[in-house]
Amino acid sequence: MDVLKITPRGYCHGVVEAIRAAKQTAKERPGAPITMLGYLVHNTHVTDELSRHGIELVDSDNRLEGLERVPEGTVIFTAHGVSPAVKERAAAKGLSLVDATCSDVIVTHELVKDLAERGYDIVYIGRRGHPEPEGVMGEAPGRVHLVQDPQDVDQLEVKNERIAVTCQTTLSIWDTAAMIKRVREKYPQAEAYNEICRATQDRQEAAVEAARECDLVIVVGSDRSSNSRRLVQVVQELGHKPAYLVDTVKDIKLEWLSGKKRVGVTSGASTPTQLTREVVTYLEALDLPA
Ligand code: SF4
Repeated sequence: MDVLKITPRGYCHGVVEAIRAAKQTAKERPGAPITMLGYLVHNTHVTDELSRHGIELVDSDNRLEGLERVPEGTVIFTAHGVSPAVKERAAAKGLSLVDATCSDVIVTHELVKDLAERGYDIVYIGRRGHPEPEGVMGEAPGRVHLVQDPQDVDQLEVKNERIAVTCQTTLSIWDTAAMIKRVREKYPQAEAYNEICRATQDRQEAAVEAARECDLVIVVGSDRSSNSRRLVQVVQELGHKPAYLVDTVKDIKLEWLSGKKRVGVTSGASTPTQLTREVVTYLEALDLPA
């Protein structure tokens, strides 16, 4: 098949940094208990590899609860960030802390903290159950209002004259613009801070652009990965082409490719390069009947 390798794709700076920090910790503390509190990045192949370096995973939808299952040693906070309460509890337990929060997520934490200190209520567009909103909301408990869809905006009852609207770093650019607009229709005074990170924006724009030249797009990434699932979504909704998420080459179904000539391949910001390479190699070698 004709394969268009969409660029940019794959690892972003935040993921590279988080993996580097985790491996460095394992190297410096051989044999000592090291735990990552949640998936360091949302890809099981990455966490499996880290476990081979002696880093255990404690998974929990709630970081504070998860922390109670870390009895000793070092705890690594993931690229998605954690709330100040989690950091305080970890320190109080006597754990050694390694913070692998992405610098782009830290910017949002600081923004929310600053706005709350200046008396604002913050409408935060994000995904329920994702660790990034949990961490950001913890910067100003009770002052950050999580909205996931337009219905949530309709139900908001914020009385404060000072309102700001911001968002999770890995959402769809287009959905988020529409959500910000909706918030500002309801609260015209709301100040908007679009925090979608550059890596997410670049990958989404490239995928939508490439979809115009392809019959379909395959996104290599984990189902857990917000930015990978958003790539599928933006290709379908804005590129108007079929798009499929695959964890590995084994997930590709030949029926997707039947009658198709050109396939675009991209990958989420937490997808190891090797997995994408295997998908590209497989597709390039395919010789399907026309
Ligand atoms: Fe940071 Fe964006 Fe990568 Fe998330 S996707 S780790 S926010 S650069």
